[in-house]
Amino acid sequence: MTTISRLQPPSGARSLRSRINGIDWPVVTGILAMHLGCLLAPFFFTWTALIVTVLLVWLTGGIGITLCFHRLLTHRSFRSPKWFEYLLTLCGCMAWQGPPVTWVGVHRIHHRHSDESEDPHSPKDGFAWSHMFWCMSKNTDGQRAADAAKDLQRDAGMRLISRFFWIPQFVAMPLLFAGGMFVEWLGLSASGFSWLIWGVCVRTVIVYHGTWFVNSATHTWGYRNYETKDRSTNLWWVALLSFGEGWHNNHHAHQRSAAHGLRWFELDMTYWTIRLLGLLGLARDIVLPTADQRPGR
Ligand SMILES: [Zn+2]
Ligand SMILES: [Zn+2]
Repeated sequence: MTTISRLQPPSGARSLRSRINGIDWPVVTGILAMHLGCLLAPFFFTWTALIVTVLLVWLTGGIGITLCFHRLLTHRSFRSPKWFEYLLTLCGCMAWQGPPVTWVGVHRIHHRHSDESEDPHSPKDGFAWSHMFWCMSKNTDGQRAADAAKDLQRDAGMRLISRFFWIPQFVAMPLLFAGGMFVEWLGLSASGFSWLIWGVCVRTVIVYHGTWFVNSATHTWGYRNYETKDRSTNLWWVALLSFGEGWHNNHHAHQRSAAHGLRWFELDMTYWTIRLLGLLGLARDIVLPTADQRPGR
């Protein structure tokens, strides 16, 4: 979650200590609650809850965060009908990683200042910081993040969704509980609490760490196809966890590209999904690097 509130003057180099202006308690509480819920998960395991979890990891992490918040809203790697863009944005809100306007703004600041002192989450400030602690402190200037996403701010629908971004996750909770009870009534392996704990807590935590590893692991380990100015890398297991985001060095080199995997073995599920949406008429103007910009195969 990237709830960001404190205004800081634009400045040059800032130490890590000077960025931490206090703990963002609502964010910490949400993240902690999701992780504590995971401790209960083994006691409430059912097979149908596992299937629901996998589907929701894909829907909220793969479609909501990777395809929508990142490739569509942040980088405009393709275009979609407005109604569909809003629907995808609601899927991203379910991941509880903050309002889309803030998410997009923070990520654009990351690209603008990758691994420099102004980067909100660089492993140069510590691996754990870049992975998860950066978003738990009032560390980034909310106005700067909003300014970096002015295009979204001009969109009344996006402003509304951003303001109430926390609602879809809360709506999902009773629906999952009721769904689990119904499937149990049908005689299958299920229960209300099982679907609630797995479908909300386990799913949200998996997507959290999938996203966070893009900020931490793929600026630390892996190989590079491009000598970019930052420390971005390509790392296969982050690509698997985050539906293709692990080809992060490729992404830093070609930020607008809808495809992050650019070599034959760099599997990128999200790009396949964008191609499918293109066939269905739901994605157009799909941006790709030219042949001479691609790395050697
Ligand atoms: Zn990066
Ligand atoms: Zn990006």
